Parts: sequence; C-alpha cells; structure tokens
Amino acid sequence: MRSKPADKRSPGRIPALEYLLQPAILVAVMALWFSNPEEPLIYPIVLATVHVLLGVIEHWMPARPDWLQPAREKLMNVVLVVVLTIGIGIVAGWYDMLLREPLAELRAILHLDIWPHDWPLFAQVLLVFFTGEFIWYWLHRMEHRWALVWRISGHGVHHSFKKLGGLNFGLNHPLEFFFLVAPSAFVELLFGVGIAAAGASILAVVQASIAHANIRMNSRVIGWLFTTNEYHIHHHSVVMEESNTNYGCAAIVWDRLFGTFEPGPTREAGTGPTEPTLWRKALMPFREPDDTAIAP
Ligand SMILES: [Zn+2]
Repeated sequence: MRSKPADKRSPGRIPALEYLLQPAILVAVMALWFSNPEEPLIYPIVLATVHVLLGVIEHWMPARPDWLQPAREKLMNVVLVVVLTIGIGIVAGWYDMLLREPLAELRAILHLDIWPHDWPLFAQVLLVFFTGEFIWYWLHRMEHRWALVWRISGHGVHHSFKKLGGLNFGLNHPLEFFFLVAPSAFVELLFGVGIAAAGASILAVVQASIAHANIRMNSRVIGWLFTTNEYHIHHHSVVMEESNTNYGCAAIVWDRLFGTFEPGPTREAGTGPTEPTLWRKALMPFREPDDTAIAP
C-alpha cells in the first residue's frame, strides 16, 4: 500500500497569510490615509493598530519561537518605542523649524520648483517614498561602511538585539533620529512636496515595522520593490558580509540597482554573540561592545 505523500506545509502555517499579510496591511493603511490625508492622528492610529496586529500574529504563530520575548521584556520594548517615537517626532519638528525657510530659498535659487503637484496623490506618495528611500539607502550604507558614521549615528544599537519583532523598527539610539528623519525632511522641504510627504512617512514606517516582524511572510512579487522581513532580518545578521546587504529598510529596489541585494535565510541576529544591556546600548556611540562582529 502506498503511503500518502508528506504534507509540505508544516503545522500552523497559513500560506494565504504568508502571501497576503504585507500587501493587505499596506493597502489598508494607504486606504485609511487617503480617506483623510490631512488628519494628523492617522499616523499614531495606524502605528498602534499595525503593531497590535503584528504583535498578536507574532505571539500566535511566530516564525522563530525562540525569538518570542517574555511579557516583561515586551512591555519594556513597548515603553521604549513610545518614548523614542515621541523623540523622533520632536527631531522631525526641529528639522521642519530650522530647514523649511532655508530649503525653500534654495529651491527658488536652484529653480527646483519641479515637484509634480498635478500628479495623482498616490503617485506623489510613491515618488516621495522612493526618493527618500534612495537617500536613506546611501546614509545607511555609510553607517555600515564608515566607522565614524557607525559611531556617531549609534546605528549599532539598532543592530544589537538578538531577538527581532515588529517593535524593533523603533528601537534606535536617540542620535540616530537625526539620520532617520533627514531623508524625508530633505525631500519634503527642498521640493515643497506638501501633503504627499505625510502619506510617504506612514508607508515608510509601516514598511519598516513589517520588515522586523517575527512572522513567516513571503517575499515574492512584493519583494521586487518593497523590503520584506526576509531581506531585512538578513541585514540584521551577526555575520558581517550578510549585514552589509539589504540597506533599504522600507524599499529594496535601490539594493537591487546598486548591487547590495541578497535574499536568504539568517541564522542569528545581533552585533555579536551577546546582547548588550540597555545601559551599554546607550553608550555604544562612545564604546563599542568587545564582542562586536559587524562594526566597520
Ligand atoms: Zn543597518
């Protein structure tokens, strides 16, 4: 008697969810924003809702059960992300206050009044998003290739976590806020983008959240242009050659164009074999942990 062929799906896997989760979240978030693009509360509402959803799925069917965190650790991360997200909002406000006028003058001097305000809003959102991601790609690549930029940005802190989840999008050293906000602020203020910039920020932050999620998701099709968690977790690898790939945290297209794209599984995340304490993380711009394996 012939035995039944083995079921290729492992228990607990839902293939439709793996294919559809990322596109469904992006479509839902963009639809919500389009319903009222001027509403500033959409940003925190979207961020909270997406993280509750990702958190529930991570708890229910984690891609790596060993990356699940005890409730206390998780709660600590929630508090940190809320505080750090408020901090990043303050830095964004400073950039706006300090750069709006000088960059508007520069726009006039350089005749850069070229923003396509007559394009459909969605096309403008994608244009800001991919332009901002282009600048971020090069900044992030510099952080990983130049020791001085690695240090002054505190980027090692973002890489120091051994267990990843959606919340890791927001676990960055305060010094890095100045780097993280710069690309979108520069594009928005230099070109006088307007409301499309708000849609692009929401798209970028949701993409960055999904990119860290400990959920089994498929990279096909969506992964032609957008970063997936497979690609971004590979960037968080403790192996230096692997961490020097996939610099796009929200869009992957620039890695594909500039030769740093690498798909593939990741065995271990972090800067080294151990995770620094919170205090050691705060000091990382001044003193690198002794066991770091990925610092330039
Ligand atoms: Zn990085």
